[in-house]
Amino acid sequence: MALLERGAYGFWLGEIVGGMALTLRYFFKRKVTLNYPYEKGPLSPRFRGEHALRRYPNGEERCIACKLCEAICPAQAITIEAEPRDDGSRRTTRYDIDMTKCIYCGLCQEACPVDAIVEGPNFEFATETREELMYDKARLLGNGDRWEAEIAANLAADAPYR
Ligand code: SF4
Ligand code: SF4
Repeated sequence: MALLERGAYGFWLGEIVGGMALTLRYFFKRKVTLNYPYEKGPLSPRFRGEHALRRYPNGEERCIACKLCEAICPAQAITIEAEPRDDGSRRTTRYDIDMTKCIYCGLCQEACPVDAIVEGPNFEFATETREELMYDKARLLGNGDRWEAEIAANLAADAPYR
């Protein structure tokens, strides 16, 4: 009997019909896949992506060269050099991050007293060479300028929990 059943099942292409029915069922369900990179999923305000150095609205750098981020970085990825300006303010002359060392722990952002170094929402910064992942101050400030609106919104959303 079982043999007959199996024969009939094979004769009427039961596997294929079952597969097609399953396909048809999911065809009309809500899609769970995204057409990346044209569609992107939501990101948490706490997402830790590419680093950026921020400025104040008047264009002045936020970083005061306290070096807390450099001291706390467990990967020793940050290198800072600083000297006073003519007006007596202290600013960095060099701010490098070796992104090949960075483990995206977020401690630099947590340590910064003026919200200068942050991990922004950008996660699309893959490169073809290691050299491209050696970020200097100009690159980090450029990231800050580019992502300031999103970074400020994320910091504001997270502020009640800090
Ligand atoms: S995220 Fe962590 S590892 Fe990366 S630079 Fe900041 S402190 Fe260092
Ligand atoms: S980024 Fe923040 S923690 Fe790092 S040196 Fe500048 S002010 Fe200090």
